[in-house]
Amino acid sequence: MTDLIDDANATAELMTDVALRQHQDRASQHQVWKDGKAYCTECGFAIPPERLAALPGCGRCVGCQQAIEQESRLWR
Ligand SMILES: [Zn+2]
Repeated sequence: MTDLIDDANATAELMTDVALRQHQDRASQHQVWKDGKAYCTECGFAIPPERLAALPGCGRCVGCQQAIEQESRLWR
């Protein structure tokens, strides 16, 4: 019985890992890079390296991300 639960946990962990990686891959396809810098896909300003380090694959600056999140919250 324990083996069954271990197997289920391992499978769930693997699926989470795969989903996370797919999400990161998709997100990084929406990044705009030029001369070694990433630029926001919304406003075109450079994304600070600290933000990229914290959120690898992010394609928007903080301001644009917040605006989009607020907008989506309004429409819920
Ligand atoms: Zn922006």
